[in-house]
This record gives sequence, structure tokens and C-alpha cells, in this order.
Amino acid sequence: MRNRTQHFINGEWVDSTGSETIDVINPATEEVIGKISSGTEEDLDRAVAAAKAAFPSFSQTTVEERIELLEKIAQEYEKRKDDIIEVITAELGSPISKSDKVHYQMGLQHFRQAAEELKTFQFEEERGETLIRKESIGVSGLITPWNFPTNQTSTKLASAFAAGSTVVLKPASNTPFAAFLLAEIFEAAGLPKGVFNLVTGSGSTIGNGISSHPDIDFVSFTGSGEVGQKIMENAASGIKKVSLELGGKSPLVILDDADIKGAAKTAVANVAMNTGQVCTAATRTLVPKSIHDEFVEAVKEVIAAFPVGDPLDKKTAVGPLVDDNQWDTVQSYIKKGMDEGATLVAGGTGKPDGLEKGYFTKITVFTDVKNDMTIAQEEIFGPVMSIITYDDIDEAIKIANDTIYGLAGYVYGNDKETLQKVAKGIRAGQVQVNNPRTDFSAPFGGFKQSGIGREWGDYGIEEFLEPKAILGYNA
Ligand code: NAP
Ligand code: MG
Repeated sequence: MRNRTQHFINGEWVDSTGSETIDVINPATEEVIGKISSGTEEDLDRAVAAAKAAFPSFSQTTVEERIELLEKIAQEYEKRKDDIIEVITAELGSPISKSDKVHYQMGLQHFRQAAEELKTFQFEEERGETLIRKESIGVSGLITPWNFPTNQTSTKLASAFAAGSTVVLKPASNTPFAAFLLAEIFEAAGLPKGVFNLVTGSGSTIGNGISSHPDIDFVSFTGSGEVGQKIMENAASGIKKVSLELGGKSPLVILDDADIKGAAKTAVANVAMNTGQVCTAATRTLVPKSIHDEFVEAVKEVIAAFPVGDPLDKKTAVGPLVDDNQWDTVQSYIKKGMDEGATLVAGGTGKPDGLEKGYFTKITVFTDVKNDMTIAQEEIFGPVMSIITYDDIDEAIKIANDTIYGLAGYVYGNDKETLQKVAKGIRAGQVQVNNPRTDFSAPFGGFKQSGIGREWGDYGIEEFLEPKAILGYNA
């Protein structure tokens, strides 16, 4: 049992002023694996006060000092590799191979990338007599979701530290333990006290408290649109800046000249990743009518290469959903798809054979989906693919953009001109052409209701800075 009922405030592990706790469950076994404190408003106040007190000196550190710090954090993070992988598999149910190659790696790369960015980042610029400086925004409140326990936290933390901002982090209550490892990593790296503060607890107390706290200057949130809206409303009273990374319903456009097996693999891998609990998941697969039947056959074949099962088994590609709520939600969307007249090609409701314990679900594929069906419009956050056919590229782009979201887009095929036309035509913050490598220097974030602001690389650092003009500076 992991009993992590203390918060990390001002460089120390401290008890909560309350006594309530929250159980954390392993979604593969349904067993309680530990508990965290359900923090109080006083706990939060204490953490914010520590961050506020640490701000004047941390914001004045030199760029070289912060590069050194981020590099030290990356080194300490690497030393905790086995622990990080173990924790993510236990609390999220992520297959062990993915906890390593995806979750562990993404967390690490954000710290490395932030250090790299600082080597060339322009904090000051002279324009005649005027000096323009980018100064740290102040105390930041970070609220993160459960689906990527290291990636979502690390991108915010690396950017904040690079910009000289001090922070209070509230991780998701169902996958909180990775954040405790980060606290230990920062301690080992010698992060000055008060720069990083960790307070656990409910969204309604700690999350809500962060978004309305008078001493927090900026709230960086990743999570659902519903909560994002509440955060914006709360932040409005104090004219607090917010950055929101929300949901998506991203399209994968397959071109008529695509290698069909490769296209099917790309499509299935994308919705299977993290059991579909990915904000950028390509849940709408747009396929030309001319290759539809062949594509569906290829998808059926490819699914067998994505075994669902025990996350501790190295051969497992897909683990359980994060909790019973998420399982119920995914099941109800699958039922809805059938009720609305989509054709089930693979998967369906219920648990996969032999996996009665744990929140396992089947990789599910629908075809004959119309873009106005619920399963094509709402974010499911499970491994459910909707295949939609199109006649020509202009129609494909139109369908791709017919959504309230704009987080990501994908295009797969051969003709370069068409690939580029589709990539430019999709209104989303990040579009991927033919399975590129992850680029940690590229901005990440959403158009439309997928969010406000950007994370990753130099764009991520910018979010934690305020431009300041000093007129007559060089007069
Ligand atoms: P969520 O319910 O919005 O929760 C996200 C975080 O907000 C958690 O830490 C949660 O705390 C906290 N929270 C809950 N109520 C709050 C309130 N009233 N005020 C302030 N904070 C509050 O989202 P989720 O279910 O964890 O994650 C799934 C959603 O996140 C999906 O919609 C997905 O698309 C989105 N997402 C977006 C991105 C992106 O980068 N764009 C990445 C990943 C996920 P508790 O855990 O204590 O409830
Ligand atoms: Mg939630």
C-alpha cells in the first residue's frame, strides 16, 4: 500500500490540516493500492503562500541557472525510471511497455526540451529606445488529468521552471502517485524550496480553490471541457490568465492512394493507444468510398495484433480503462452507436473474454457512421473508432472540420500535394502526416473548444511569461 497522505509544501512533506483521504485503485485488479490526502483550503493557502514567497528570488535566477536545474531534473528523473514505469502501470493500468516507451519518455523529454529551448530563447529584445522583456508571470496553479500522469504534469512544470514561475500542482485524484515521484525528483535535483508545491485533493476543493485563488496569477489546466469552462468562469473574477488543454474528436483522413494495410495499422494503433484515453485520439477515420470495404477487412485483421490484457505482461498492447465510471461511459457510447444505426465491425459492449476483473473493454470499430451521430461528435475517451466515408478531398476536409473540437488531425497516404492540402485544411492545433516522430519542440494545443494556449517547447514557455515594454530604456 502506498500511503502518500502528505503534501509537499515549501520543500517539506507536511500533514494535511484535514483527515479525509481518497483511495487510489489499480484499474486492472480493481484493488485499492494506496491513498492520498483529500486536501483542504488551508493546505492550498499554505502551498500558495510558499510559492508566492519563493517567486521573487526564483524569477530572478539566471537562464544558465535554470538550464542547469532542468538538466539536473532530467538526470534525477532518469534515475527513477523503474519507479515511474511501475507507478504508471499500477495507477493507470498502462501496459508496461507503453509506461516505458510513452509515459516515462514523454515526461523526460519535456524537461530536456525546456533546457534546450532556454539555450536560444530571447527574453529581451531592443527596438530603438525601447527594451522589451519577457518576465515570469508569477505564481502558477497547475491542474492535471489522469490519462498521462507524467506527460501532462511535466510539460507544465518544465515550462514553468524555464520561465521562472513558482507553482502549486494538483494532480488527478485517480492517478496521483507519479506526481509524488516528481516531487522527490525535484528535491534530489535541488530545486529551491517553495518553487514546487504539491497538494492533493478533490477537484471541487483544491482545483476550484486554485482557479479562484487571489494569489495565483495563472492557471494551466488540462482536462475536460466542462471543468475548463468552470475554471475560466472562476478565473474571470480575478482577471487571471488561463491556459486550457481540453478534449478532441480528431479526424484521420486516409487518401485513396494509401497502402491499405498501413492505413489500417495506423488507425487501430491510434485508437488503441492508452486504451483510447488520449485527447488527440483519431476517433473519426475518414475513408474514400472506393477503398472502404478493403480498409474494413484490413482493420479486422490488424486488431488481433493489439492484445487487450494484463498491463504487467510485456505482450499486452491495451490495458483497462482507468475506472468504473470511464468503463460505464464507454459502454454507453458503444450502445448509442448501435442504437443510432452504425454498423459494428469489431468489438462491442462488455468485457473481452477472460477479463472479468478490471475495467477492460474491447477495441471497437463502427462503420456506416454519419458525422452527425453522437459517436462522431462526442469525445468517448475509449478505444472506439468511427469510420466515415467520403467522395473527394474537399468533402473529407469539410467532414474533418465539422466538430466543435480542433485539437489534432492526421492524414495518411502517398500524394504529397494532397497530404499537404489536407494537413493545411484541417483546423486543429497539431496535424500529423504519415506517422511522424514526436516533436517536443512543436506547439501543442487546441483550436475551437479544444482549448486556449499552447504547451511544449518555446510556445509552452511563452505561456508562463508576460511581455513588458520599457520605453526610453536606451534613450
Ligand atoms: P476532468 O474531470 O476535467 O479533471 C481534470 C482535473 O481537474 C483533475 O485534476 C480534476 O480533479 C480537476 N477538477 C475536477 N473538477 C474541478 C473543478 N471544479 N475545478 C478545478 N479542477 C477540477 O478531466 P479528466 O476526466 O481527468 O480527463 C479527461 C479529459 O481531459 C478529457 O476530456 C480529455 O480530452 C481531456 N484531456 C485533454 C488533454 C489536452 O492536452 N488537450 C490531455 C489529456 C486529457 P479530480 O481528479 O480530483 O477530480
Ligand atoms: Mg474526472
